[in-house]
Amino acid sequence: MSSDPVPPIPAWLADRPTVGGLVVPWTTPETQDGRHVFGSLHPRFRDALKRRLCGVCGNALTRPMVLLMRLSDLPLKATSEPALHPQCSRYTTLACPMVAGRRTHYRSTPVRLDSSMTHSADTGSRLGAPAEPWFAVWLNGYDVIELNGALAASYREIEPLRIRPINFTFSLSDLLR
Ligand SMILES: [Zn+2]
Repeated sequence: MSSDPVPPIPAWLADRPTVGGLVVPWTTPETQDGRHVFGSLHPRFRDALKRRLCGVCGNALTRPMVLLMRLSDLPLKATSEPALHPQCSRYTTLACPMVAGRRTHYRSTPVRLDSSMTHSADTGSRLGAPAEPWFAVWLNGYDVIELNGALAASYREIEPLRIRPINFTFSLSDLLR
């Protein structure tokens, strides 16, 4: 959407490719015809999880780190989205339309992927669904577990430093639905 704000690109992300002025995260897949599939995960997300690399810039994580979580993911205390540096999380909360709460619904048709790619396990259930509130879970570390057949970063055995709501565009009735 042309009315979406485009936040300035931080210096540490200046080498990353961009689409429409927005940085393409390291773990976002690219099709052979050059389309970046935001919201899907490149197979290297497994490396990011196992090697404790940031999902946006691809560099080693430091403490603290941040997991960006949907409301529906919070009870699982785990997500396949890699952890982020606080500054990369901050950029994502400004730049990503879903995380920033600038979309009311998820896309209603799946993006066409190359044969080497896979949609995340819950892509089907999110198609056309109302957008969800997002939360930043601040942690000093995470465990790598298997969640619905995919690797995930888990804090089931780790007390989060804090959990903060990212956007406040949701009414109470949305949250209680
Ligand atoms: Zn980073």
